[in-house]
Parts: sequence; structure tokens; C-alpha cells
Amino acid sequence: MLLRTILYAIVAVMAISLLRSVIGIVAKGFHDFVNPAPPGAPRRPTVESGGELKRDPVCGTFISTASALQKKVGGEVYYFCSEECRGKFKG
Ligand SMILES: [Zn+2]
Repeated sequence: MLLRTILYAIVAVMAISLLRSVIGIVAKGFHDFVNPAPPGAPRRPTVESGGELKRDPVCGTFISTASALQKKVGGEVYYFCSEECRGKFKG
């Protein structure tokens, strides 16, 4: 039956296009998952109990002294949100 063959072909094409759109949505979702925040987006200040709030001199994020990374430069202690910021800081 030629008609049935054509029908199967149409169904197959529709299924493939549907599959492609599903893969596209999943791929986009995965991309958003890997890169949740756009670069340069303001970070929310991290506040934890039992610590004083200090400003990261590299990125400007406020962090609690209880959870922040420290670096002592010239008798003064600086606080950083991450290892990356501490590495960038040249005090
Ligand atoms: Zn920082």
C-alpha cells in the first residue's frame, strides 16, 4: 500500500521534528543549569550567624567573617568570598 507508506513517512518526519525540539529544550535547560547566572550579575550577600559582615575588596560582595576566606596584608586582615578573589587580591 503506497498510501500507508506515505503515512508512515509523515509520522516519522513528525516524530523526528518533535524529538529535535525536545532535545533542543533539554540542551537549553542543561546550558542554564551549567551557567545559572550571567556574568556580572550581582551576588547576594552571604550572611551567617556568629560573624561580622565584611566587604570583599575584589568583587564587592559582603561576606560574614565566620565563613569568609582571610588574608593578612600589612597587619590588616582582608576577607574574601572565594579562593578566586583572594588570589586576585594584591594588597
Ligand atoms: Zn569575591
